[in-house]
Amino acid sequence: MTEVDAAGAPVNSGAAADEAGHRMSGGTGTGTGGITATPLPAHRDEWEQRVLAEPNLLGDIAFAVGGPFHLMYPARVARNIRGFQEAFTRAGVDGFVYFGKKANKAACVARACAEQGAGVDVASTGELTAALAQGVRGSELMVTGPEKSDDLLWLAARHRAVIAVDSVGELERIAALGFSARVLLRVLPPASASRFGMTEAEIEHALTAATAMTSVRLEGFSFHLSGYDPVPRAELAADLVRRCLHARTLGHPASTISIGGGFGVDYVPARAWSDFTEDASRRWFHTGKKFDSYYPYHCPEPGPAMLTAILGRDGLAEHLRGNGIRLAIEPGRALLDRAGSTVFRVQGSKTRLAHGHPYRILTVDGSSLSLSEQWFDSEYLPDPVLWPPREGTATPTVVGAATCLESDMLSWRRIPLPGPADTGDLLVYPNTAGYQMDSNESTFHELPLPPKVALHDAPGGRYRWTLDAH
Ligand SMILES: *Cc1c(COP(=O)(O)O)cnc(C)c1O
Repeated sequence: MTEVDAAGAPVNSGAAADEAGHRMSGGTGTGTGGITATPLPAHRDEWEQRVLAEPNLLGDIAFAVGGPFHLMYPARVARNIRGFQEAFTRAGVDGFVYFGKKANKAACVARACAEQGAGVDVASTGELTAALAQGVRGSELMVTGPEKSDDLLWLAARHRAVIAVDSVGELERIAALGFSARVLLRVLPPASASRFGMTEAEIEHALTAATAMTSVRLEGFSFHLSGYDPVPRAELAADLVRRCLHARTLGHPASTISIGGGFGVDYVPARAWSDFTEDASRRWFHTGKKFDSYYPYHCPEPGPAMLTAILGRDGLAEHLRGNGIRLAIEPGRALLDRAGSTVFRVQGSKTRLAHGHPYRILTVDGSSLSLSEQWFDSEYLPDPVLWPPREGTATPTVVGAATCLESDMLSWRRIPLPGPADTGDLLVYPNTAGYQMDSNESTFHELPLPPKVALHDAPGGRYRWTLDAH
């Protein structure tokens, strides 16, 4: 932490700025006594820059909606899907992308999947029917989740979806449906304490059982790993190839493996992220709040680059090709990278002191149930953007919800906003389409659910917007 002199000015006022142009003096460079967090500006796509630069668009949508809303830009989802498909093509691998649907409910995302030839990974009858309604074919669905309901299994089999089987009991329930079903066996990763997937003994049992089930077509194996490391995924994928070859000796047409999701997303530049993680202090947070862990908001090898790394490791691509095996992936978050943001309106502000220095507490017109990270004992770190745009003095600001819960904060950390935000200003949280928007949405306090607004390009470089059909 930088020393601060009696006047509150930083002692090392050389105020070095890195190549991204932000201050790098442990958050104290603004002369606010070290109570302000370092900035974490999100990477911003051209479409987002245009939205922020439009003089009326955000204000008009906010007026029309009359509360917080989520902006979606499905063209970016399409581009993300193509990024993965191109990584498969470059590696010469037969691959297929299933969107992990729990990461976002928007109809425009499922529609983008249908249009781009991607499938959808669903885990409930609601998700399954929502995907079908947007044009994803039944045969392009992957059905995951533990001990799926009989209803879901029945629908999945009716629509020729691939079912990732999580237990021997579930496999028996599928066979009892009495008509043909396509299945993968979900493997419990080695040394994992996960409640999902089958142990070695359970897989053996399921293989034997499946051999006797005439209606069950065993198409391969799957796993889903936590973390964002390509190495264990490549290793386990190679192991699943071996399992397919073994299953073929038992007469099964095993020719697909699914390596699940967990493809990283790069939210903020490396330097901003290391400044934050190296210097983060309780002094930066409202009430001295401390979080034990954060999502890794900087990722050097995100999305398709991570797939390329997986395919390139230990000859996995050749191994898949040589054995006629199709590789499926189930990215959720990574298909939504830079495809949406969440907009709140400032309802009011207060000034409070921390360690003798003033900061602002904003109240916005929604709740942290529309910015889900707080519900995982963590905080969503990419900085919200103040709109209309302005350039002023960095003003340490925390953001609270319009609810009566002390703990309902959208941002506990004192973000250096470029000026004091006031009633009627908008706060645009960037890159929220992956999990932040709706996984915890709730009508708590009888507040309405924030609608999703889908943005489309219109002639003349304009946008048109519509309410998402979900
Ligand atoms: C959640 C989930 C995914 C998507 O995970 P991401 O980290 O969003 O990529 C994929 N497959 C399964 C089985 C999941 O449960």
